[in-house]
Amino acid sequence: MVEPTTMALSHSQAMGNSAPGHTAVAQARTHLREALESLIQWAEDLQECGVGHVECDPAALSQLVVPPTAQKRPEERLAEIARRIAQCRRCPLHRTRTRTVPGQGNPSPELVFVGEGPGTEEDRQGLAFVGPAGQLLTRLIRALGMTREEVFIANIVKCRPTERNEGVRDRPPTDEEMSACLPYLHEQLDVLRPKVIVCLGATALRGLLGLQGISRLRGKWQNYRGIPVMPTYHPSYLLRAGGEGKELYWQVWEDMCEVLRQLGRPVPERRRRS
Ligand code: SF4
Repeated sequence: MVEPTTMALSHSQAMGNSAPGHTAVAQARTHLREALESLIQWAEDLQECGVGHVECDPAALSQLVVPPTAQKRPEERLAEIARRIAQCRRCPLHRTRTRTVPGQGNPSPELVFVGEGPGTEEDRQGLAFVGPAGQLLTRLIRALGMTREEVFIANIVKCRPTERNEGVRDRPPTDEEMSACLPYLHEQLDVLRPKVIVCLGATALRGLLGLQGISRLRGKWQNYRGIPVMPTYHPSYLLRAGGEGKELYWQVWEDMCEVLRQLGRPVPERRRRS
């Protein structure tokens, strides 16, 4: 396990990477994770084909270490992650998905939204937040003076979870499904390096930060690897509570105004109608 880390760091130094130490370590961590994920995927594929064991010599093993990607552009690195997600069978959700939903948007955003997982429409289109909750999120982003193209939108799990895995009624992902899928989100965030992350709902908060209690924690800044995180309610919850203009909506609006202040952006004037 030590060897690939050392190799990635050495390569980064050999390439004359003048990034600060913590950036080099983060990049090395990403390379190591990518290498291990490729290896795990390969081993799982073999296992599914009935192969019980493989014999490897050191030269063969060295071929499994993927080349460092630090010199690639963020969009290329995100596309690589999306390609691996499209082939992923790490958890049972792959059996009922129509399409994987890696997330989409600006590859170098100031702001990233993290939701729970794809629903019906997202599963059909392969895009995050395009159903009714996504449309509410789009209106919210516009009200903030931004566009969806400026931000990146992703989920904790990349395949649609449904009750009894029948592909009919949506449900939150299980802890096992989240654990299986979270490495992809961590990788994406390593590439995206936003100034602020917004956690949409209890599942996103639990998955990303291991915290419980969205009602208690919404509007209170948290931290993900040095990036400020604002927890707030999920748009689906807002819809169930009546949508725009209702009390919960205005609570989310206040949270988002805090996000704008953190980003140093102007906060639009909006008045509640009583
Ligand atoms: S939800 Fe994530 S871990 Fe599970 S199969 Fe889909 S991409 Fe893989």
